[in-house]
Amino acid sequence: SLLINQLCINCDVCAPACPNTAISQGETIYEIDPNLCTECVGHFDEPQCVVVCPVECIELDAGNPETREQLLAKYHALTRGQ
Ligand code: SF4
Ligand code: SF4
Repeated sequence: SLLINQLCINCDVCAPACPNTAISQGETIYEIDPNLCTECVGHFDEPQCVVVCPVECIELDAGNPETREQLLAKYHALTRGQ
């Protein structure tokens, strides 16, 4: 999944752009739920939050590396029954 770093200015542009509703306002900055973030795999060619963020504060979570297959499996699990 991706990660929002401390440069976040709480502009709320990214949350509505996320197809998995993985982004919400945290205590100090916005946060991405790693269980919901598929890095936009299954929905879009590139991470939509990264596309819209005005300060480029969203990065890959190096501590939680996932393969495209894992991200696709997460996408299928999240969209099952829809
Ligand atoms: Fe949501 Fe996509 Fe950003 Fe993950 S990469 S938080 S799924 S918009
Ligand atoms: Fe923070 Fe970027 Fe999201 Fe704005 S778009 S709330 S700066 S992560």
